[in-house]
Amino acid sequence: MKKISKLLIGTNNKGKFLEICDLLPKYIKTYSTADFKLKSPKEYGVTFEENSLIKSRYFSKKTKLICLSDDSGLEIDILNKEPGIYSARWGGKKSDFNKAIQKVYRKLFKKDKNWKQKKIKARFVCALSLYGFNKKISSVVGKVEGYISNEPRGKNGFGYDPIFIPKNKKKTFGEIKPSQKYKIDHRYFAFQKIKKFL
Ligand code: IMP
Repeated sequence: MKKISKLLIGTNNKGKFLEICDLLPKYIKTYSTADFKLKSPKEYGVTFEENSLIKSRYFSKKTKLICLSDDSGLEIDILNKEPGIYSARWGGKKSDFNKAIQKVYRKLFKKDKNWKQKKIKARFVCALSLYGFNKKISSVVGKVEGYISNEPRGKNGFGYDPIFIPKNKKKTFGEIKPSQKYKIDHRYFAFQKIKKFL
């Protein structure tokens, strides 16, 4: 298959954009949605995979470029996998991640007053999809398992990074250096599955 030389990264989230660019081979010239002044489409899907495809299809049709899009989020088991596909929406209109984190803590407390004494299982999920030439090229899912920390820790990353401790580690994603996080997270595992199409 012919190697892709130009690729639109279909996200308006700066944290994701930086991470995806870091994963891509250097011969690929990347474009952002901001280069085309594109707003994100409405995410009406009910799974991460559907929403990532909605984005990659929309951005590819608008720009005539092949587009790689991500839809991702945090699933917390005792909250019936919430916030899930609503992870960004828990931050409100202004995507305020502190607000989203406070909502997680509020919901955990409501579910179980002693939650801080327990291990609260959670995972980050990432669906990546590649769309171009008027069709889906590929879509894949990657996950990283872990726990919710009792308090937000660290200033690195974005979103729920300060409250997520990956399995077998002590630090939150907010405390781990981005270069380290990029090697063990959900987006990395999804990327390993999709990179053969690039
Ligand atoms: P999306 O743009 O609709 O896919 O929103 C995904 C949301 O999930 C983000 O806004 C974050 O709140 C959260 N999220 C996804 N990936 C990560 C990550 O790597 N770290 C922290 N939060 C993440």
